[in-house]
Amino acid sequence: MTDYKKQLGNIGFSYDNLTATGYNKINGICFVVRINPTTKDYTVSAACKPQDESAVEMINTELRNFMSERAKILKNAVFDGKQIIICYQLGMTANITQGVSDAVNTIIYYINQYGCVPCCSLCGNVGYSDIYSTGNTISAMCPDCFYTFQKKAAENMQQDDQIITNYPMGFIGAMLGGLAGGVLWIIFSLMGRVSFIAGFEAGLGGVYGFKWLGKKMSNAGIAIGIIVSFIFLLAGMYLAVGIDFYNALHDWGYYDISFKEALEILPDFVKADADTRNALIFDNLRGIIPFACTAFLSVWQVKKDGQLKNRAIKLM
Ligand SMILES: [Zn+2]
Repeated sequence: MTDYKKQLGNIGFSYDNLTATGYNKINGICFVVRINPTTKDYTVSAACKPQDESAVEMINTELRNFMSERAKILKNAVFDGKQIIICYQLGMTANITQGVSDAVNTIIYYINQYGCVPCCSLCGNVGYSDIYSTGNTISAMCPDCFYTFQKKAAENMQQDDQIITNYPMGFIGAMLGGLAGGVLWIIFSLMGRVSFIAGFEAGLGGVYGFKWLGKKMSNAGIAIGIIVSFIFLLAGMYLAVGIDFYNALHDWGYYDISFKEALEILPDFVKADADTRNALIFDNLRGIIPFACTAFLSVWQVKKDGQLKNRAIKLM
């Protein structure tokens, strides 16, 4: 993991881990750095407005030059009248300190050169603006815009408090999520393959299945989601091996053994044969390891969503 907190800290920026956003106030202007690993870029934005409207076009001309000088590392640079936004590609340099400093210095130069003042990045109101965290975004806004968010967040929170976790339905959701993983495992096994996807699906399906039908997440819900889906994945694995074993028995001439009987003698057969046992462990780990990874990730995501959902705080 890249330590953006440290990189941005070196140039005086604060950093919020949950939203991967850095922020700072320089000469009264709010700067926000949003890191987006999915689109492999990061944007530096400054909420400001020129006192003379015609400066918007002049700053945009400057930004086009700025961009052509850095064509290899820049994705975009634009001034929409409320925010100067410069978007860099992530990973072009070892760390983002250089890009952010470059953008900040350039923006400050334009602000001084063209007489820009702080403004709200949402409504564009000139004057006082601060950095706030609302839900999963951090932005520079005026107290009025923040108040609207804060009111909405308080309402949402009240509504959320009234929702009660529906454990029976959540359990069914987790079962469906796990079942899908187990069935996928069997389908791939019938095609003679070992599937990572089945493990991934079960890891996500359990937790999100519970959330989907249980309406509200809780720690017990997370545990139910993981345990139930893991049982279904294991059941899928057991059945898949059982089908293979049953077919093998027929190939070996044991036509009168039923599928149920095959499943019953399977554990003894596996215990007795070390090669088969090792092969099975190896195959099944290729489902269990992805399961563990995605289960961990989905718990992390659900926890993060919960923390961010109704967040409305002033950061700076
Ligand atoms: Zn506003």
